[in-house]
Amino acid sequence: ATATRKLSAIGVTAGYDRADVLKGVTVEVKPGTVTCILGANGAGKSTLIRTILGLNRVRKGEVYFGGAAIANMPTHKIAALGIATVPEGNRVLPRMTVLDNLKVGGLLMRDSRRVAARMEELFETFPRLRERRGQLAGTLSGGERSMLSIARGLMTDPELVIFDEPSLGLSPLFVSEVFGIVRRLKTAGLSILLVEQNVRQTLDVADYGYVLVQGQVVAEGDAESLKQNAELHKAYFGVH
Ligand code: ATP
Repeated sequence: ATATRKLSAIGVTAGYDRADVLKGVTVEVKPGTVTCILGANGAGKSTLIRTILGLNRVRKGEVYFGGAAIANMPTHKIAALGIATVPEGNRVLPRMTVLDNLKVGGLLMRDSRRVAARMEELFETFPRLRERRGQLAGTLSGGERSMLSIARGLMTDPELVIFDEPSLGLSPLFVSEVFGIVRRLKTAGLSILLVEQNVRQTLDVADYGYVLVQGQVVAEGDAESLKQNAELHKAYFGVH
């Protein structure tokens, strides 16, 4: 669906047990943009996504999607507002067919005709998945598995898609394919939140980005300006 709503996380603190992992993180995703969160291992990127999706408690701060305050809302309700996610490493359900994986993506949808219609639209976008619809997802190639996990996330026709390290474990060819899909989704009017360690390719596709270091935003700006940013190099190469 064409995005009209902005996602804002404002001063979000969240963590596990007694430790805060995110310490007052503020990020926003403007409608129709690709916004990225860059950061090294352990910076808190996954925790930020989990918190936005209602899988981790917001201890302090606010999260809004359009006019709705979504902090600590149950995950299925957040999903119903139009936020979808593609899991880290583009996971699929390996012992289920392509078709059944897509059906799982549509579990929240009440109208079975809409599920069928949506699947048809996605088969138009990803013709390879139509060819493979009866095949077990575990037997797909890496690129096809990525396509399937993205298509599964798109089943609910979301406004905002959150990608958790989609390039993880993919060969360079498939990485380009995934970034190509991100571009197409943006062209189709969706908002994308892209969490990545692959700095160069991410900044090539992103409009805006944030750099997360130890649970705090240490730099933000247009993708172009981040390409030149010294903080980014610090964050990745540990030069202080
Ligand atoms: P990666 O790229 O490795 O996924 P990340 O930037 O996504 O890194 P997080 O996974 O959010 O980082 O982890 C941030 C910190 O939170 C790390 O120190 C990690 O050890 C800790 N952490 C993550 N998950 C848990 C958990 N379930 N229980 C306790 N601590 C956790």
